[in-house]
Amino acid sequence: DKKVVLITGCSSGIGLSLAVRLASDPNKTFKVYATMRNLAKKERLLECVKSLHKDTLDILQMDVTSRQSILDARDRVVEKRVDILVSNAGVGLMGPLEVLSLDSMRQILEVNLLGTIQTIQAFLPEMKAQGQGRILVTGSTGGLQGLPFNEVYCASKFAIEGACESLAVLLQHFNIHLSLIECGPVNTDFLVNLQKAELGDTCLQQVDALTLSLYEKYLQHCGSVFQNAAQDTEDIVKVFLDAIQSPSPAFRYFTSGVVPPLTRLKISEPDGKRYISAL
Ligand code: NAD
Repeated sequence: DKKVVLITGCSSGIGLSLAVRLASDPNKTFKVYATMRNLAKKERLLECVKSLHKDTLDILQMDVTSRQSILDARDRVVEKRVDILVSNAGVGLMGPLEVLSLDSMRQILEVNLLGTIQTIQAFLPEMKAQGQGRILVTGSTGGLQGLPFNEVYCASKFAIEGACESLAVLLQHFNIHLSLIECGPVNTDFLVNLQKAELGDTCLQQVDALTLSLYEKYLQHCGSVFQNAAQDTEDIVKVFLDAIQSPSPAFRYFTSGVVPPLTRLKISEPDGKRYISAL
């Protein structure tokens, strides 16, 4: 029997690469349900799998902010079970805190936090009944350490850490393994899809000069980090595979192989003074 995998956010980036890799598995180990909010964006995925037989991949509509959409996708899984659930959909939001609209902040929390929680909620009863399952969540360095101009994004990703860590304790009793795949910068559409206050935006005209100049510096820093240090999605997919193939997976995987140094500093010096000045 194939392992049934359902992945959220597969129209681009990490979700797309993971769906392609698992659906192309030489041993046909997996049946992949690649889900996406907007099916009009399925061409890119289809292009990557066009040489495959159809029996390892299905594409389903699923908006993680809509409970009904999640349940509809779940009901279209013909095997009536999901062995491996991957909660991956997410969006970024960047800018000085005082210019972020309430709507944009709500949207980030809806997708990143409640989207992840609602997705897990929908598949949990059935996994518990099966007495087995894997839940993989795309985590972020921004869920482990604060980053300037990313307050709300980090809040959403820190919150995921708390939700997952709490749930993992219970799931031990059900033979369900929950793992976070903690990513640093990855070459995806993330920066394009990210909602960001742009330097010319009128909303930024009200911001004080010091904040603005620090924001400008930060954007340059981000640009160079993504250019010089970002991982490719294939590197991330390998880590997902490690977690999937491990008989006893860890709770956290770091895609670069090590805990990021500043995250380490946060743990070794929990009063936070050194972390904040180092960052
Ligand atoms: P991406 O923008 O290419 O992929 C994110 C996907 O989520 C997109 O396909 C998007 O359409 C989808 N999505 C957004 N809202 C959705 C909704 N309501 N319902 C369903 N799908 C929705 O970027 P990515 O880098 O592949 O992002 C995947 C995950 O990785 C995100 O959770 C992101 O926070 C996380 N991450 C990315 C990076 C990075 O540098 N790229 C770093 C750390 C963590």
